[in-house]
Amino acid sequence: MTHEQRHKARTQLVDRRRTLAREIRDALVASGEQHFIDLAGQVPDAGETSFAHLLADVDAALADRHVQALRDVDAALARLDADEYGQCEDCGTPIPDARLKAWPEARRCVPCQTRLEHGHGMIAAPRL
Ligand SMILES: [Zn+2]
Repeated sequence: MTHEQRHKARTQLVDRRRTLAREIRDALVASGEQHFIDLAGQVPDAGETSFAHLLADVDAALADRHVQALRDVDAALARLDADEYGQCEDCGTPIPDARLKAWPEARRCVPCQTRLEHGHGMIAAPRL
């Protein structure tokens, strides 16, 4: 992966985290529950720091999909730092560019992701 590709991926991931942070905050506020509204106040605007841990006790039904995506984004940024970004977590093959473009926090190639979703009853992740 070139320096430029890495830079692009990082920008994309940071953007994505910002969007997710906003959506999570909106969902928390919209819930009308004081505890969640308090929590929403702690979600940073720019999303520059990891705050997934803040949301550990958020009602699963509320913002769960976004919280999960946020954790994936954080994990992707960590992989970027470790120079492992863009490789399938399971089989190690490079994840196709088109998939990474549409879903920058993708952790697995399509075959591995499909196998996981169908094999272990995990929460379905967005797919191309
Ligand atoms: Zn794979």
